Amino acid sequence: MTVKVGINGYGTIGKRAAEAINKQDDMKVVGVTKTRPTYEASVAVELGLPLYVPETSADDFKKAGIKVAGTIKDMYKKVDIIVDCTPGDVAEEYKKEYAEAGVKGIFQGGEDHSLTGISFNASANYKESWGAQFSRVVSCNTTGLIRTLYPLDRKFKIQSVFATLIRRGADPNNSKSGPINAVEPSLKIPTHHGPDVQSIMPWLNIQTMAVKVPTTIMHLHTVTVKLGAETTTEEIIELWKEAPRVRLVSGKSGIKSSAQIMELARDLGRPRGDMYEIAVWEDGVKVVGDTLYFYQAVHQESDVIPEIIDCIRSMCKIEEDASVSMRKTDRSMGI
Ligand code: NAD
Repeated sequence: MTVKVGINGYGTIGKRAAEAINKQDDMKVVGVTKTRPTYEASVAVELGLPLYVPETSADDFKKAGIKVAGTIKDMYKKVDIIVDCTPGDVAEEYKKEYAEAGVKGIFQGGEDHSLTGISFNASANYKESWGAQFSRVVSCNTTGLIRTLYPLDRKFKIQSVFATLIRRGADPNNSKSGPINAVEPSLKIPTHHGPDVQSIMPWLNIQTMAVKVPTTIMHLHTVTVKLGAETTTEEIIELWKEAPRVRLVSGKSGIKSSAQIMELARDLGRPRGDMYEIAVWEDGVKVVGDTLYFYQAVHQESDVIPEIIDCIRSMCKIEEDASVSMRKTDRSMGI
């Protein structure tokens, strides 16, 4: 079975999702959407991706000489599932359209859990999206926290988590908002990130704060976890060595900041220089009694992409076993 996928919103996440989907043998991108006739729309066509546009802008694309395959509503007729990668404010309307057209929809972390009632992380709750019409892959930061916390919770039963999220000011291609020349605390405490983790792990006692800083390349988390049992630094490191989509890095080997993690991704030949795994500094992990301290870095543009692939497999009932789906995804993406 080959699942036919449409990408609504061909931006940072949409482009990466399209590339990763077309690396799978059980799904295929049959259309992407753009609202304006930009260079990105031309590139999509050049790459052989059928381009669908809003009815109201079809003329603009024609004038710009960009070949379109039809309207966004035409695309619904060609697909089994839409990966909605539009910005946070339009999903509600699109959800109604997908429901009317009888197609499934995956939304992103810019939306609230209440939009779909189901949120997704491959390790933690693959089965909850099984056959669902709508689901939501949680945000880059939430995905990052769940990747490291879920295996810890399974082994040690976490008592509480406190995390500070040091957030990138903007994505690298965003010259409109750009990196801010400031350090900006989120004044609403706790931030929404803790409740977002709870959309997947509702039992977890977690509080978060966040600070925006002048960088575009990654987020960094400082995390303190009170575990249900005493352990050692070595045991925690061994646990994460086995955890999916977590990569241990070390300051001793020269990885002292997010800059070297991005260089590592480029050295590995990753498409777009993406780092899909959550990077944890092995020499920055410390256990004192039952309390664990660590740092992790999150590549906001790409860590959710493998989760999107697995979410398609769960929602379209292609593979029942989460670990089989994850292995397949990871192999195809060089993780
Ligand atoms: P983006 O701005 O890079 O891309 C959004 C795309 O949607 C653009 O191509 C834009 O032209 C298109 N678009 C805008 N309005 C549209 C409409 N009405 N109909 C169809 N297309 C429309 O945004 P992004 O960073 O890819 O984010 C998309 C979603 O993914 C958001 O929910 C965001 O919160 C989430 N997300 C973003 C990141 C990140 O760091 N970039 C990480 C994880 C999740």
